[in-house]
Amino acid sequence: MQFRSTQAHEPLVSFKEAVLRCLPPDGGLYVPAMIPDLRQFFLYMDSETAFPELAGTLAPALLQGELNPFSASRVAESAFRFEPELQRLDGEFSLLNLYNGPTGVFKDFGISFLAAVMEELLKSSGRAMIISAARGDTGVSIARAFAGREGIVCVILYPSGPIRGLDPESFVPRGGNIIPIQIRGTFDDCQRLINETINDREFSERYGITSANAINPGRLLPQSFYYLYAFTRIKEIVQGELVFSVPSGNFGNLIAGLYAWKFGMPVNGFIAAMNANNAFGGLIQGEKFTVNRLIHTCSPALDVTNPSNYARMVSFYEEAPAVMRNMVYPAAINDKTTLAVMEKVWKKYGVFLDSHTAVAFAAAEQFAASRAYSGQVHTVVLATGHPAKEPGLIVKTTGQSIPVPERFLALQEKADPVAVIDPELAAVEGAIASCF
Ligand SMILES: *Cc1c(COP(=O)(O)O)cnc(C)c1O
Repeated sequence: MQFRSTQAHEPLVSFKEAVLRCLPPDGGLYVPAMIPDLRQFFLYMDSETAFPELAGTLAPALLQGELNPFSASRVAESAFRFEPELQRLDGEFSLLNLYNGPTGVFKDFGISFLAAVMEELLKSSGRAMIISAARGDTGVSIARAFAGREGIVCVILYPSGPIRGLDPESFVPRGGNIIPIQIRGTFDDCQRLINETINDREFSERYGITSANAINPGRLLPQSFYYLYAFTRIKEIVQGELVFSVPSGNFGNLIAGLYAWKFGMPVNGFIAAMNANNAFGGLIQGEKFTVNRLIHTCSPALDVTNPSNYARMVSFYEEAPAVMRNMVYPAAINDKTTLAVMEKVWKKYGVFLDSHTAVAFAAAEQFAASRAYSGQVHTVVLATGHPAKEPGLIVKTTGQSIPVPERFLALQEKADPVAVIDPELAAVEGAIASCF
């Protein structure tokens, strides 16, 4: 599979180049230049196909010539020590639980695959340094996925505030390959410094710098695999229409679902479930996109006003506007409804939802209620975050105290970064260079 920029149809680049560059030089985003049909591979898979097996079969089919079946199995086995889980609630709803990774968030899937596939792709051609900005547990997810990967050094820029959940033994000065650096500034300062570092050609070429942020195609592609995984399970239990409801902030997850559909997955629609920020509500209905003021909600990972996957989303609509209008349904869910759904799902099914999943569940209910005809629809709601990461909200909505797994407690331990610096390019480069 080759990739092109959303800005231009030429030149095409390989998967490896797209992963290592992360962003095309023209300011667009990488998208597949041609979409392969994967039906011959996944239509025969069933509920006994394990996730690493599915990923190890589909990845070489997608990346023909770049990832042979043996490398792909190695990548899938080393990336996915955790699996998605399809949980059927009743005839109408299932949950696709994507929170079984180390940090309890679906982002673990994309990050783990990126780290493993980069190590494999670099085997023949040397070294790379990945640099990313992180807040919350994304830094932990990145540090865990990249720790000990051969030929890769991983720099993580943190904004001001406590840094948690990192293992100091994995840091470069102690013989590891992770370099956490704290910037005296904001998350936006971190993002800006990454761009400046990458654009400093001499420096970035010396270290082979690339970015591992959420728009890297190496994080996006593997997310399509869990939709197909859900399909291999759901096809045995569902007649009628199949819809996925996706809690959406930067829209990476939804775009990955659209790729799964393009790869041949039989699906009738996707619900773009947003909170009050409703960033793409207008765009999906054919209006001009504008950036609204940020609203802080109880589902913070969806508090996004200018989704980073804008160019990818638009490229789908430019290609086939009428098809897309029948494929993606927007919904905006407020906090009151979100919290009410957390309570209701607990009472009805005995299942805890995190706030982001609750947004998608509420959107799925609205969608089912608004349908003009009463054909049977089964909705798979993507459970993107582990409910035990929001014990306060769970008590508030259900009155229950949720047991917090051991692995989440370790995420709370504070760690000292390798350096604390001012938000300036020279300081970032100095901090990186001083580690070697
Ligand atoms: C990041 C995140 C989302 C949003 O995913 P996007 O791909 O940015 O749309 C949803 N839920 C949780 C728990 C998240 O951490």
